[in-house]
Parts: sequence; structure tokens; C-alpha cells
Amino acid sequence: MRILRQEIYYPLLVLVTLSLMLWQLLGMNHYLHVPVNQSLKVSTLNDDINGGKSLATLTINQDNAHLNCQTAQSATFPFCSMLIPLSQQPDQYPDLRKFHSIVLDMVVHNPQRDTILVYLLNSEQNATPAESAIGQTRANLQTINPSSGRSEYTLAMNRFYVPSWWIFSKPYGIDTNAKMDQVKYLQIATGDSYQLKNVDIKLYSFTFIGKWIAAKDLYLGLLFIWITSIIGHSIFLTLSLRKKYLSSKIKAAELDRINNFLSIERDKFESMAKTDPLTKVFNRAGLSSVLSELISQFSTLSQPASLVMFDIDLFKRINDTYGHDEGDKVLINLTALVSSKIREQDVLARWGGEEFVVVCRNTDITGAAIFAEHLRASIEHELLSRLCSVTCSFGVAQLHSANVDTWFKRADEALYRAKSQGRNQVEQG
Ligand code: GH3
Ligand code: MG
Ligand code: MG
Repeated sequence: MRILRQEIYYPLLVLVTLSLMLWQLLGMNHYLHVPVNQSLKVSTLNDDINGGKSLATLTINQDNAHLNCQTAQSATFPFCSMLIPLSQQPDQYPDLRKFHSIVLDMVVHNPQRDTILVYLLNSEQNATPAESAIGQTRANLQTINPSSGRSEYTLAMNRFYVPSWWIFSKPYGIDTNAKMDQVKYLQIATGDSYQLKNVDIKLYSFTFIGKWIAAKDLYLGLLFIWITSIIGHSIFLTLSLRKKYLSSKIKAAELDRINNFLSIERDKFESMAKTDPLTKVFNRAGLSSVLSELISQFSTLSQPASLVMFDIDLFKRINDTYGHDEGDKVLINLTALVSSKIREQDVLARWGGEEFVVVCRNTDITGAAIFAEHLRASIEHELLSRLCSVTCSFGVAQLHSANVDTWFKRADEALYRAKSQGRNQVEQG
């Protein structure tokens, strides 16, 4: 399911919330209009139920119910009323709590000054079966001060109250609040003035007005929508963040793996670039970083360093006589031998062809010459080839200035001298 994006959803929800609240406040009216005519089964209810003598005449016309009441003096309170049942079905009475007003369209004619009593008779739970239909109801009362001619009287539902006479007719401790959950009858009665009177009441219609959704219900509904939206969005956000976090973790691990692989490869290529593939010792490129480090140590600390340069004697002849492969073997065996003879701080490198150098740290020319002589003798006596003997000529030079080229040139010149003086010997430059 695609969830509406937050930046659209919440402004929309605010708009809907405000619109609904405004609509509820200013409109959303629900009208229950009841025209009064023969179909309503209007009846009269007089003081004769208490032994009174008032005379009530009810005429049901096309569009109204007309009650004429002539009150008569008697031992009881004189009154007449018209009784309008609000439901034709027994035990199914309208719940009027959802309405806020009732409007009565009436004409009241009374030469005497008097009020009109409007009752909404609600079905009473605790009524005894012995009581009459009216007795089984709770009287909710409101008084109208009638004006002359036909008028609409609007009564607020929350202004109805339970009158004293009803409370006194019930046992002590009875609930005295108005109730409107099952209203059986609307009763329009003459007022409570004791003066004898001849009253005409014509009721044309009555209308209950309410809201389609009560404010309390609407606010509760909106609160529910807001809370579920926020919780829903929070859960969705948490889950999607978790998903993103997990996938980024997987990606990071993958990147790590690639990085490791690349750095291994880079190291491999770096060392390949600095290493001679045949003899596995440094080549010129490999030696250059050692040399620059040496030069800086020489410049700052004046540490001595010497170069032992050597070249295989008459190597061309070995190649020509025993083959190139045998020549390669000699190169490999020679580097293995020299590597085993040098100190840890010294560095062996193939300078080119069958020519090598050993850079000796912390070594002056004397030490280097002794070492070169030792190397020369070892080579001469070691079996570097099963087919022939192998010797090398050496040129040795100490570092005197920060100039690598002149240092190498001096070693090279010494080597040249060793060659020209008969080979297999050490010369100092
Ligand atoms: P000298 O005593 O004057 O140094 O004589 P030389 O024969 O050693 O010197 P020359 O410069 O005439 O010949 C060097 C030979 O080394 C020529 C070349 O083919 C051979 N060579 C150079 N690199 C390699 C290599 O990697 N493998 C083999 N087998 N031979 C090589
Ligand atoms: Mg040579
Ligand atoms: Mg050479």
C-alpha cells in the first residue's frame, strides 16, 4: 500500500479538521419536521385524571390540532393539554439527545395572562407496571410566554427540567435530571395560573433541530484519526529508516570489501612496479625511495652511507655457452646469495642487466670495501652454476654529497677500473 506522503497528508488533515469543525459549528444541521394532522393520533389529557372539571375540545384539522380549554374550579389544579405521541411503535421512542432545539409553530389565544407548558415525556426505566402510560414517563418541562398570533417558539433542549410536582410524585432519592433518550410524547398544556380561562391552542407543526454529528462525537473522531495517523506514520517511518539503515550497512560492508580488495591489488601493483620479476629484489624504481630517504638522513644527521656496485664477469659468454636459461639461474642464485650476506638495514637492487647495487646504511668506504671483498670471495666460491664458475667485479663509493648521480658515477668508475684491471676484484671510488 502506498502511504500518502507526510508533507501532503498532514496539511490535508489540518484542512479537513478545520473545515469539519467550522461546518459543525455553523451548519451541519439536521431537521426533523413533523406537521400536525390526523395521522398523528393527537389526544387530550385533562385535570379529569385528578378529578378536575375542565372541559377540553380537540379538533384535528388538515394542518393543525386545535385545543380549546375551558378551565373549571375544582379541588385539583385545573388544566387541559394535547398529547402528541412521537412514535407509533410501542417501546421504540426517539432519542432526542442529538437535537439541540425544538421549534413549535403555534397560535395561542388566551384573554387571560398565562403561560403555556411544553412537556417532553420520556419513558421512565424505574416506572411501576401499575402506573398509567403517562405515569410511566418522566416529565421534562419548559415554559412558554405566548405572544399573540401565530408564532414559532424555539426551545433549547438543554433548558428542559423536571418539575417539582413530578419529583414529589416519586420516592425519595429519585434522579431529578431531565432525560431525553426515549421520548414518548410531546405535551402542550395550559399554564399554571389558577385564574379561570378559556384558552385556544393551535399547533401546526413541531421541528427538532440538531447536528448530523454532535460536537463531542466529531472531536473524538478527529482525535482518533489524528492519533492513528501519527502512530501509523511513526511506525512507517521507523520501519523505512530501519530498512534504509540495514541496506546502507550492507552497502558499506560491500564497499569495505571492494576497498580491501583494491588496496591489496594496489599494494601488489606497487610492489610489482618496484620489484624485479626475475630475481625478486628491488629494481631502480624500488631503490629510488630508499635513496631519497638516505640522502635526507645524510643531509640532516650526516649519517654515512656507501654503495657497493657489482657486475657479473663475462656474463655474455655464460649466456652464449650454456643458454639464456642458465644465465637466468645464475642471476637468481647470485641475488639469493647476496641477500643472505647483507645486513637487515642494507638494500640490494638490480641496477640493470647483470649489474647490481647494495646500498649500505651507516657504512663508510672502509667497511663497504671489506664487505665487498667478502661478497666477491663468497661468489667466487659458491656454486652459482653447475656448468661454470661465476665471478663479479666490484666498485665501492661512499656518499660525500647529497648528489646521488655523482655517488653512482664514482662507484661505476671504480667498477670499470676493476673490470679493466682483470675482473673479480674490488675497487674504491
Ligand atoms: P663484462 O665482464 O665486461 O661485464 O662482460 P659481460 O659479458 O658480462 O658484459 P656485456 O655487457 O657484454 O654482456 C652482458 C650480457 O648480459 C648481455 C645480455 O644478454 C646479458 N643479460 C642482460 N640481462 C639478462 C638477463 O636478464 N638474463 C640473461 N640470461 N642474460 C642477461
Ligand atoms: Mg658483465
Ligand atoms: Mg654489464
